Amino acid sequence: MNEVETVSTELEELLEAIPSPPQEVIVCKLCRHRLADADLMHDINGKTEHEFTNPFGIVHRFRCYDDAPGCKIQGSREAADTWFLGYTWRICTCGKCDTFLGWLFEANDSFFGLLISKTAQENLRADSGTAAS
Ligand SMILES: [Zn+2]
Repeated sequence: MNEVETVSTELEELLEAIPSPPQEVIVCKLCRHRLADADLMHDINGKTEHEFTNPFGIVHRFRCYDDAPGCKIQGSREAADTWFLGYTWRICTCGKCDTFLGWLFEANDSFFGLLISKTAQENLRADSGTAAS
């Protein structure tokens, strides 16, 4: 085996040793309950992150997701004070600890808006203490 082949074999072995990309998940900040996969993030009006002020002057920053199976949906559909034209909203809470997390927006399609301050992104394979906070 010549030198070039040796190097390329070593490179292949190195590449095989690199683990596949870690799975990022969105969890409840309070109880770490898994809410959604990070790759379910959803573009609304060209952005995944939105900031709105409610009628009480409280600023809400949230990210949008196609689905959030770990959330519980509460109450009936509301059309008043919606932030997205044509969409109704319902409250969504943590499926485990019931913390208020955001909203499910529904029209012909639907998406979740989860509050950035109430959620965290975690690496599912982070068992070595290197989890992003
Ligand atoms: Zn929770």
